[in-house]
Amino acid sequence: MSADNSFFEQVHRAFDRAATFTKHDPTLLVQIRHCKSVCRMSFPVKRDDGTIEVIHAWRAEHSHHRLPTKGGIRYSMAVGEDEVMALAALMSYKCAVVDVPFGGAKGGIRIDRHEYSAAELERITRRYTFELKQKNFIGPGVDVPAPDYGTGSQEMAWIADTYLTLSGGELNALACVTAKPVSQGGIMGRTEATGRGIVYGLQEVCSYADDMKRLGLSPGLEGKRAVVQGLGNVGFHAAKFLQESGALLVGLAEHEGAIWSERGLDLERVVAHRKETGSILGFPGAKDLPTGAAALELECDILVPAALENQITLENVDRVRAKILAEGANGPTTAEADERLTARGVLIVPDIYLNAGGVVVSYFEWLKNLSHVRFGRMQKRFEEESNRRLLKAVEQLTARTFPAAELEAAARGASELDLVNSGLEESMVSAYRDIRELRSRHGGAVDLRTAAFIGAIDKIAAAYEEMGIFP
Ligand code: NAD
Repeated sequence: MSADNSFFEQVHRAFDRAATFTKHDPTLLVQIRHCKSVCRMSFPVKRDDGTIEVIHAWRAEHSHHRLPTKGGIRYSMAVGEDEVMALAALMSYKCAVVDVPFGGAKGGIRIDRHEYSAAELERITRRYTFELKQKNFIGPGVDVPAPDYGTGSQEMAWIADTYLTLSGGELNALACVTAKPVSQGGIMGRTEATGRGIVYGLQEVCSYADDMKRLGLSPGLEGKRAVVQGLGNVGFHAAKFLQESGALLVGLAEHEGAIWSERGLDLERVVAHRKETGSILGFPGAKDLPTGAAALELECDILVPAALENQITLENVDRVRAKILAEGANGPTTAEADERLTARGVLIVPDIYLNAGGVVVSYFEWLKNLSHVRFGRMQKRFEEESNRRLLKAVEQLTARTFPAAELEAAARGASELDLVNSGLEESMVSAYRDIRELRSRHGGAVDLRTAAFIGAIDKIAAAYEEMGIFP
């Protein structure tokens, strides 16, 4: 944590800087900036040994300009009111940046999940859901959680099941939470969506020759040296898709330390090594670094912090040598560190844009749950038949016969996964174009984060203005 500011104040600083470039009524800006509701809960849970423990938990809803509100649930010892409010605010701006019609929210339970058995985690998660339901902080049209640090599809399945039990036959009850297992109403592609979205975003960022030239880089991800901090849901998938896009993973970090290799690290082999030995350290052919934080200082083209907030601070910023800082985590860079990096010409691709892939695909899952039909089910076969007829017509006109495999590949209709990934790519590409366009509209006087915030403020302000409350 930076010495000078709380996490929520850090978010305010980015908001305030962007607000100076807008012409909105100051009262409207105050309304947007504040966190609207915060729920604090303490409840008893029985441990496996029969003792009772009091668990502390929160849910913050930052903005109700669009409903439901949306945001993950985090299990970590650092969870507190300031953290959930800051993360909920980032969610409001993130949803606006990628045009997802939700307000922002975030929840958290102050536990270290490694200290609890699966049965204890289930009791904690179900009780938390019960508390949320009782306080009207969960529901398909109210507030829809998803995973975040320390949680995944298993917790979402427990939440859905508890909500269903309490909701008494509510038709759309499954839409009360996203990132559920596919068998429980989830959607294909949600698990990897944030990491995949990061790489779609970076592909677009790196496609502009003039931006890359300024950094002394050539366009494209091919051959770029990347470092990833955190190999959880976001970091693992970001690293995987970066590698598949031709980038070289020169550094990887987990909480036990970091590893580095100029020749590149094979992600799958590193993960297998960690599974076997309990650590990424000691990976054959790689150099060990004593702490996870040391990876942030490695020379590279792209640095992806994908663990927690406040990783790049005034303490280490002058040692950060990346040319592109790709914020996979929420709030990894403090406002002061951001200013120093920007002054040095580092391209910061901000969290409220770059890690939005998760909420984009969560939006698709929510729509799927409301429509009660799998994406692609209605049109896949129809598309295939139409494509086949067209290809046959081409064969007749050209007197050429396509090889059977080529014909089948060209005729294939879109599956749910194809549609999800294509909708995700479209969202990431068009949002970046909007941000870049806003940056140039301000004559280069603003960085990407400020441009993203300006766009988000404008959209949220427009929603309030439509309500007729503000002039
Ligand atoms: P996760 O729990 O799946 O993974 C986090 C990983 O970071 C863990 O493996 C942990 O051991 C590691 N880690 C913790 N401290 C570390 C350190 N000091 N150095 C190196 N590694 C460390 O969490 P996640 O879902 O991947 O979330 C990571 C970040 O991304 C958070 O900031 C979260 O808010 C953000 N985020 C998550 C999603 C999502 O869909 N899960 C979406 C958007 C943003």
